[in-house]
Amino acid sequence: MIDNFIGYKCSLCGNEFGPDDIVYTCPDDGGNLDVILNFDLIRQTTSIDEVLHSSNQSLWRYLPLLPVRDPGFEETPLKAAGWTPVFSSRRLSSTLGINQLWVKDESRNPTASFKDRASAIVVAKAQEIQAKVIVTASTGNAGAALAGMAAAVGQKAVIFAPRSAPPAKVAQLLIYGAKVFLVDGSYDDAFDLTIQAAQEFGWYCRNTGYNPFTAEGKKTAAYEIWEWGMKDGKWQTENGKTPVVFVSVGDGNIISGIHKGFKDLLALGWIHEIPRIFGVQAEGSAAIANAFQAGGEQITPVSANTIADSISVDLPRDGVRAIRAAAETGGAFITVSDDEIITAIAELGKIGVFAEPAGAASLAGLRSALREGLVDPDTPVLVINTGSGLKDVNAAMSAVGEAPIIEPSLKAVRQVIK
Ligand SMILES: *Cc1c(COP(=O)(O)O)cnc(C)c1O
Ligand SMILES: [Zn+2]
Repeated sequence: MIDNFIGYKCSLCGNEFGPDDIVYTCPDDGGNLDVILNFDLIRQTTSIDEVLHSSNQSLWRYLPLLPVRDPGFEETPLKAAGWTPVFSSRRLSSTLGINQLWVKDESRNPTASFKDRASAIVVAKAQEIQAKVIVTASTGNAGAALAGMAAAVGQKAVIFAPRSAPPAKVAQLLIYGAKVFLVDGSYDDAFDLTIQAAQEFGWYCRNTGYNPFTAEGKKTAAYEIWEWGMKDGKWQTENGKTPVVFVSVGDGNIISGIHKGFKDLLALGWIHEIPRIFGVQAEGSAAIANAFQAGGEQITPVSANTIADSISVDLPRDGVRAIRAAAETGGAFITVSDDEIITAIAELGKIGVFAEPAGAASLAGLRSALREGLVDPDTPVLVINTGSGLKDVNAAMSAVGEAPIIEPSLKAVRQVIK
C-alpha cells in the first residue's frame, strides 16, 4: 500500500471509494475519479524544501505527492519523464504585444509528448499491481508514450489507434515493440473497442479520461510550473503578477491534471492562489468549448475534424473536469481554426520550438484570447507545447513553403537569393 493514496472521489456524484474498491470510473454514473491524497500525512512526512531541493530531474522528484510506489527501476526512459524546460521569448512576447511569454516545451519528454507524464505513472502502477498487459486507445501520442514507457521496463503493451494516425506516431508504437491495432474508424471507436478488449482479455486499461492515474501523472506539469515560477511564495514575473496557463484540449485530461496539480499545492498550503487556466480546442473538435460557452457541464459529442490529430475527439472523456479547470480558476475555453494553428506552428518554429499542431494550438489560443480581451496584455503567459513537430511532418510542411531545389553552383544560389 502507498500510504499517501487513500482513495477516489467521483467528480460527478461525489461518492468516495477506497484504493482497492475500484479501478476505473464511478460505477453509478461513469464519472471520472479524482485520486484522494492524504495531505495531512504528506505535510508531516514531506517538507516543501525537500521537494524544492530534490536533485531528481524528472517528475519522480514529486514521488511523495504521487499515488504510486517508487518505480525503483534502473535509469530507464520511464525515470526521465517530465522536468521539461520553460523557454522565454521577448521577441514573441513583443510580437504578441504582451508583457511576458514562456513556452513550456513538452516535446522534450522521452517519447516527445506530454503523454509520457501519464504513461510513466500508469506503467508504474501496472508494475505495482502486476498487470501482465497494458492497453490504451490513442490518437498516437498516448500510445507512443505507453509503448515507450512500457518498453523501458519490459512491460507488454497493446495500442489501438485510428488508422489515420500520423505515420511517425505509428512508427514509434511499432519500434517500441507494442502490439499495434490500427482501427478503421475514429479515435472514439478505438476508445470503446479498447475498453471492451480490456474487459474481455483482462488487460489493464490506460485510456485517457478512464484510468484515474493519467491525471496524476499530468498534474506534475503544474508542480513544475510552480517550482520554476515561484520563489519564497511569490511569482518571479517581471511585474509580480500570477501567470496564466494556456493548454490545448482534446479529451480534457491534461487540463484536468494541471488543475489537480495546482489544487494539490493549494491543499498543501504551498501556493495561495491557482493560476487562471485557459483550454484551447480546435474549431472542428470543440465539444468542451461548446459546453463551456453554453455555461454548463453538459457535453454534446461532435463529429471531430481538425489537422490537430492529438486533440481530435468526438466525445471528450474528461470534459466535466476540464470545464471546471477553466471555470474554477477564472480561465476560459477558446477555439482556434486549423489555419491559426498552422500559423502558430511557424511562430513557435521561429523561436526554436518545433510543435505538432495540437502543441501549437495553445499559442493560437493565446492570440485569440488577446484579441477578445480575455487576457490583459499585462498578464504574464505560459503556453504549453504538448508535442513535437517531428510527429507530424506533413502538418509542419503546410506551415512553410517548400525549399527550392538548385544546381550545385554559386550562380544558382545567387539567383535564388535575389
Ligand atoms: C493528448 C494531447 C493533447 C490533449 O490532451 P487531452 O488530455 O486529450 O485534452 C494535446 N496535445 C497533444 C500533443 C496531445 O498528445
Ligand atoms: Zn459517481
